[in-house]
Amino acid sequence: RELPGDTREGGPVRQVLHACYTKVSPSVKVNNPELVSWSESCAELMDLDPHEFESMDFPLLFSGAVPLKGSLPYAQCYGGHQFGFWAGQLGDGRAITLGELINKRKERWELQLKGAGRTPYSRSADGLAVLRSSIREFLCSEAMHFLGIPTTRALCLVTTGNGVIRDMFYDGNPKEEPGAVVCRVAQSFLRIGSFQIHAARTKEDLQIVRTLTDYVIRHHFPHLNHLPATAQADSNVLESEDNGGVSEVMQENNKYLAWFIEVAERTASLIAKWQGVGFTHGVLNTDNMSVLGLTIDYGPFGFLDAFDPKFTPNTTDLPGRRYCFANQPDIGLWNLMQLATTLKEAELISEEESEVGLNRYGEKFMEEYKQLMSRKLGLKEYNRDLINKLLSNMAFDKVDYTNCFRALGNVKSSQDVSDEDLLKPIKGVLLETSKERKKAWIDWMKLYIEQLRNEGLVDEDRKASMDSVNPKYILRNYLCQTAIDAAEQGDYSEVNRLLKVMKNPYSEQPEMEKYVRLPPAWAYRPGVCMLSCSS
Ligand code: AMP
Ligand code: MG
Ligand code: MG
Repeated sequence: RELPGDTREGGPVRQVLHACYTKVSPSVKVNNPELVSWSESCAELMDLDPHEFESMDFPLLFSGAVPLKGSLPYAQCYGGHQFGFWAGQLGDGRAITLGELINKRKERWELQLKGAGRTPYSRSADGLAVLRSSIREFLCSEAMHFLGIPTTRALCLVTTGNGVIRDMFYDGNPKEEPGAVVCRVAQSFLRIGSFQIHAARTKEDLQIVRTLTDYVIRHHFPHLNHLPATAQADSNVLESEDNGGVSEVMQENNKYLAWFIEVAERTASLIAKWQGVGFTHGVLNTDNMSVLGLTIDYGPFGFLDAFDPKFTPNTTDLPGRRYCFANQPDIGLWNLMQLATTLKEAELISEEESEVGLNRYGEKFMEEYKQLMSRKLGLKEYNRDLINKLLSNMAFDKVDYTNCFRALGNVKSSQDVSDEDLLKPIKGVLLETSKERKKAWIDWMKLYIEQLRNEGLVDEDRKASMDSVNPKYILRNYLCQTAIDAAEQGDYSEVNRLLKVMKNPYSEQPEMEKYVRLPPAWAYRPGVCMLSCSS
């Protein structure tokens, strides 16, 4: 059912019933909007000619001020569990989809403006976005893509030329900040919450869960579409004991189970990759969990600098730290349990099938995580003890996560060296050099070198392989902040430079050496290393 968008300031908080979306046009006001940056790589996906970005109309179209010809804009309805509690209807409160395009490769891409005005899902908020958060979302979407991590993409970033009022520190001193709009791109923005919302309403709404599941399988998991849509698997199969073959038989019997398993696997693989690069999402509510296994919604995210498993970049997440770095794998499972509940309520999968999917999550996560951590150390064999000892040393001495793994690529296993020289390759990342701490690292290094020798890899080959999984350049918060400070003064060059550096995170870029530096002292001030949800 279509409802007109309510774009009145402070309009009523409204429930949009029996619908997955609402047609609504952007209502953002602009005043000389400017193009801050655009991603060449994302433009290629859209088959967009670079000259398009130079056109006078471009900032008008991509701020939402002028309607894009042929588009039928809408905002999606979804709900979600926020910090573990059901929050009811949320929805695209400041994101408006312009439509989908099919590129030369016959891929379907959805284009969405974030910050283009209120929608029926805005609740009491303004539907707008500030430049600071938009720069973060724009840069990190592309940085994650180039790190090889599934993510929604960002095509471009424009300023609106108008101010947006934000109380950044909740100190009762709201100030005006420059407004901006990011154009996000993904094959789909559907989330776990997109399914949950309908199951949370009436029995009739469960049909929407089924329709939406069929839709997502048809469009985004076409390889599963041929499977039979049996609501419950064969009871004989369910009774057989848990062995590797059971889930396969079940999966062949029911496309909804096959889909749930694939969502679980994609989520597991995504979160393993986050752990590998030290990415902390910060707000892993079920409305921010893509069913395509993409990183979605860049709010108060942060990459680890000094290794701290309890790191959360989100002030709203204190003191509970539900969404801290080390909890992410468990939160992935918790979120999938909510999807499983919805699918069970809609009678698409049974209790037993839901368990098959959830177990698969854990297995897949461990498979991927072990493989990735082994590759990060250049090892063929996973060595749990070795990895745990390294991580605990890193946590103890607050060692930089990114730079430490990168430096380990320089360890030589071929020569015998003195204890002191053993630490040479990681000298640059060891801040603590007391005798005891040195000893702990030397002990670890000996274990590491012993395994390297046993595996008999050539140092140079191992380094090349390690460098391809241990990024040299990551989008540290302080780097973002430097680009934001300049952009707020009208200088967009640092945004563009960062975009360029982050395009090749695994390569040596000698002229960009300063981007590997550890955060300066000012980076620890509130608002840089810690952000709130509603940035
Ligand atoms: P998030 O924490 O970013 O996932 O946002 C949670 C919900 O709040 C989503 O439904 C967002 O669309 C909505 N929201 C966040 N910021 C705004 C805003 N400035 N205006 C309207 N809705 C917003
Ligand atoms: Mg969100
Ligand atoms: Mg957000």
